[in-house]
Amino acid sequence: MWKAMTNCPATKANLAGRRVPCSSTCPICEDHPESVEHALLTCPWVIGVWFASPLGYIGNRQQETSLHQWFLSLCNILDQPKDEVNKSITIVSFVMWSIWKARCKAVFDHLRPNPLEVLRGAREAWSKFFQNEVCPGNINRVDGEEVVVNPGVTWCAPPNPFLKLNVDPSWQKASGLTGLGIVIRNHMGDFKYGKVLKTTTGSIEIAEARVIIEGLSFVLEHGITHVCVESNSKNVIDNCSGKIARGD
Ligand SMILES: [Zn+2]
Repeated sequence: MWKAMTNCPATKANLAGRRVPCSSTCPICEDHPESVEHALLTCPWVIGVWFASPLGYIGNRQQETSLHQWFLSLCNILDQPKDEVNKSITIVSFVMWSIWKARCKAVFDHLRPNPLEVLRGAREAWSKFFQNEVCPGNINRVDGEEVVVNPGVTWCAPPNPFLKLNVDPSWQKASGLTGLGIVIRNHMGDFKYGKVLKTTTGSIEIAEARVIIEGLSFVLEHGITHVCVESNSKNVIDNCSGKIARGD
């Protein structure tokens, strides 16, 4: 979105404008210069995508000055609560991204874009995004009491009496050099303990697993008895929870 708003994408008109020896004409409709606005909003096939999207937007070649202006006026006409506006902006972003990817497939792989296919791809992507955003890290029972952790895409504090262990490694493929980062915070979100370690490991998965093990040793060292572990490695978490029996 940022690239599009700042007129960066390598459309034919942009390339021609930067003295790349090519025609500025849209490679899909072959009827207009391919500006960013044309590629993402007003090329005839793209108009179909926007119209079929949840926005039901009908592109108007005369009214659009710049993508930036179009986006600002779109935000203004979205007469919705802030959450809904954010949701609409997310949808717009995914639609634009899918349009651009389909446009590139048309240019490089000579695959004619299909508006409904493109919209389906965008819909899949934004649905996945929204699902992940509200995925809660639930803990159901603490000493017989039910505890619900607030859902959210941002970091959230663990419920009392838990502390939260966040871990993340860095890993260099060539040397196997690995940095392990460990942070422990309480239910108020206050920093309690932290540690960094250097080691070498054979793969990023091993590094991800190793940092959890080191984190848990650190937890034991401090006599902590209630802890949530947060890692961003799906493979390792799946492995720990028994969904993958063997793996890297
Ligand atoms: Zn076109």
